[in-house]
Amino acid sequence: MDLRFSKEDEAFRLEVRTFINDNLPADIRERSRLGYAFRKEDTVAWQRILNKKGWAAYSWPVEYGGPGWTPTQRMIFQEEIMMGNAPEVLGFNITMIGPVLMHFATQEQKDYFLPRARNLDDWWCQGFSEPGAGSDLASLKTAAVRDGDDYVVNGQKIWTSTAHNADWCFVLVRTDPHAKKRQEGISFILVDMKTPGITVRPIISIDGSHHLNEVFFDNVRVPVKNRIYEENRGWDVAKYLLGNERTGIARLGKSKERLAYAKELARDVQQHGRPLIEDPAFRRRAAQIEVDLKALELTQLRVVSGAKANAGKPDPFSSILKIKGTELLQETSELVMDVGGPLAMPGWAKELSAMSNQPPYGPDWAPAMAGPYLMLRAASIYGGTNEIQKNILTKAVLGL
Ligand SMILES: Cc1cc2nc3c(=O)[nH]c(=O)nc-3n(C[C@H](O)[C@H](O)[C@H](O)COP(=O)(O)OP(=O)(O)OC[C@H]3O[C@@H](n4cnc5c(N)ncnc54)[C@H](O)[C@@H]3O)c2cc1C
Repeated sequence: MDLRFSKEDEAFRLEVRTFINDNLPADIRERSRLGYAFRKEDTVAWQRILNKKGWAAYSWPVEYGGPGWTPTQRMIFQEEIMMGNAPEVLGFNITMIGPVLMHFATQEQKDYFLPRARNLDDWWCQGFSEPGAGSDLASLKTAAVRDGDDYVVNGQKIWTSTAHNADWCFVLVRTDPHAKKRQEGISFILVDMKTPGITVRPIISIDGSHHLNEVFFDNVRVPVKNRIYEENRGWDVAKYLLGNERTGIARLGKSKERLAYAKELARDVQQHGRPLIEDPAFRRRAAQIEVDLKALELTQLRVVSGAKANAGKPDPFSSILKIKGTELLQETSELVMDVGGPLAMPGWAKELSAMSNQPPYGPDWAPAMAGPYLMLRAASIYGGTNEIQKNILTKAVLGL
């Protein structure tokens, strides 16, 4: 197992970096650098630029319009996207529904949906979790009852990220409430979000943003031809999809970018009359994160170089990537916020400016620091909680 990048990989990294530098609109880059979330139009615009280049579906084979890259090239591409402050390609489209369609869909479904997913003509969302079904997903209750050529869907999903932006949702529904095993009565269907009977209600998260939603289904008619794979075999599809979801979840590039940003700001911020970057406590903390990032990078390379041997099956070691990756996302966003100190509290900065009757107080980088810190507390929950990842590791790796 080679844990170094080859000369070809390094040349590829440079090619990707140069393309991002030359083609990413400056306003999108700057908003992200300051810590603001990407808007829908940013993600759509950038994904279409990538699609023109043939890179949007970065993990797809050539026959479906992907670049046919190696696992290492995909990893480098994702890292460069994050380090370059470009919007990540929409995971719902590219790493979730795309591979599912390639593996399980009919030719007609592939021909219609895959090119549209690549170019972000359709924005997809994921309707899996319900109020009583998260980690224990198989207990989901949303029901689909056959009526002629349609299913009639009733029930509720929750935590549906970006459902308010979405054109389509892939949904797990219960089609056989009497199945012996809960997993055996589930089907995987594609739902047009404009269908009558769907209500999307926002959930505003602690950072004040609208990313999450509840989605209600009230007698929603979904054509049977929009089912993927066999009726009552949706669990196989879901397991395949979740295996793919977990591989890119470390988001190493984002943590690297945030650490570099914290160090850059710490050169300007003064503490006791000296730049913060000279403070031994800050330096120790930044160095520890750097060491942890290096270790994570090596683990990621190990998983990536083992990908061929695993022949598409999820590697239990990707649970380590999820756990350590999300811990580092949380640590680096906290470091950035600590560099801002009290100015990173938007309310405090506003109050100071009101008290002194001055324009908004503090530098332009301060107000957006708290948002990502708060939002990233959720990173250890989404994509399979970190406790569930530890369960996987104890069973699959330690054999307990
Ligand atoms: C920001 C965000 C975005 C999301 N986006 C989507 C989305 O787009 N689509 C979608 O379908 N879902 C989405 N989710 C939902 C996410 O998949 C669930 O929140 C997650 O699976 C956990 O389920 P739960 O919230 O029901 O918590 P629960 O499963 O009820 O867990 C509660 C707590 O108990 C622990 N726990 C549960 N079971 C075990 C066990 N067996 N052993 C040890 N500990 C356990 C968990 O780790 C957790 O700490 C999102 C969640 C978040 C926070």
